[in-house]
Amino acid sequence: MSESVASGHVHANASSASEMQKQSQELKQTRLLVLYDRACLLHKTIELLGSSLVPAYESPERLENIHSALAKHSGRFEIVEVKRQSGGNNGNVNADANANADGTLDALLAASHDVGYIQHLKTIHAKWVAEGLIPEDGQVLPECFRVTSVASRAPREPVDPFARSGYYAFDMSTGICKDTWTSIAASARLAIEAVRHMLDSKRDVLALCRPPGHHCTTNMAGGYCYVNNAVVAVEALRSAKKEKEEGPKVAILDLDFHHGNGTQDYFYHDPAVLYVSIHGENEYPYYTGFREEAGNGRAEGANVNLPLKTGASVEEYLELVGRAVEIMVAFEPEFLFVSLGFDTFKGDPLGCFMIETEDYEKIAECVRQESSGLSIVPAVILLEGGYVVQKLGENMLAFLKGWGVR
Ligand SMILES: [Zn+2]
Repeated sequence: MSESVASGHVHANASSASEMQKQSQELKQTRLLVLYDRACLLHKTIELLGSSLVPAYESPERLENIHSALAKHSGRFEIVEVKRQSGGNNGNVNADANANADGTLDALLAASHDVGYIQHLKTIHAKWVAEGLIPEDGQVLPECFRVTSVASRAPREPVDPFARSGYYAFDMSTGICKDTWTSIAASARLAIEAVRHMLDSKRDVLALCRPPGHHCTTNMAGGYCYVNNAVVAVEALRSAKKEKEEGPKVAILDLDFHHGNGTQDYFYHDPAVLYVSIHGENEYPYYTGFREEAGNGRAEGANVNLPLKTGASVEEYLELVGRAVEIMVAFEPEFLFVSLGFDTFKGDPLGCFMIETEDYEKIAECVRQESSGLSIVPAVILLEGGYVVQKLGENMLAFLKGWGVR
């Protein structure tokens, strides 16, 4: 592979159409790398849905379904499972010990997320158990949220651990069990490793992240998300490419049914990162995702929301994917990140588009086909939502087929 592809300066350095075609062929010959960590399965929680507390739709079975479908077709990908030393807890893998081994995760979290918030995620379950609020196998779930309408002073972290859970969350979908931090750390670490592998091996990487990340802000959990994996991944890339003052130009394409409010928020003032999201109009997270949210200051125009009415067909969806691709090509990104959710699937309990399994191939093709202009931009795909559990693996396989993995 030529250096121009490796460094991602696709538009600046590709001197001719034939050179681009050659680079594209070379890229497609390299197999996609899939990163998986079974520590991502440990987190299992409940949520308030309607007026009932129920097992969260965001379940370990989601990841198991995708992993087993990919494992059956492992000739088409290289699946790398993150190995960890055994911990003392019932033989559970100890993701935290490993994640902290080189300090990379901690350093990136400290640089991108609120320090008190991360400490809260790590410790709040043990605190609630120690205070007698829940048993060891219980769940931390907030009931009282921070009030932001008090203009007289900035909100401050409450002393009471009960109140703290609502200070660091914006909804009741983000319960915390004994193993939640282990999974959060494993998920974020996959995002970091995905970037490292993309840079080292010049291959596209799919990180099977769980929990997902695009809803949480840097100091509030929400929408099943605790640490924003896209934010961590982009910061990992910047840290590896320090020679550029503003960092490499990055496009993030968010294909989850729901608007990635947390990712938008983080990069809203950042001209080096283009965020483009296609999502259900007036759907969760309700207060963001509108067309007029276009970025701020020098980043004006670098945030693009393409809301789509509920019940939309795949044709209507593909039209927006085409528009998103045009916008990204005009931005000339050096790297592409995809926040990939399958709650756009017809019948998803938390989404309402009419997309079917075979359509995911068309969607990925639209992004990655040679004529799109994005076909050779090095890419990391991060798993977000999708809740028709038994179809997730098939849907992922269809998407990867369209991505060029056959
Ligand atoms: Zn979603």
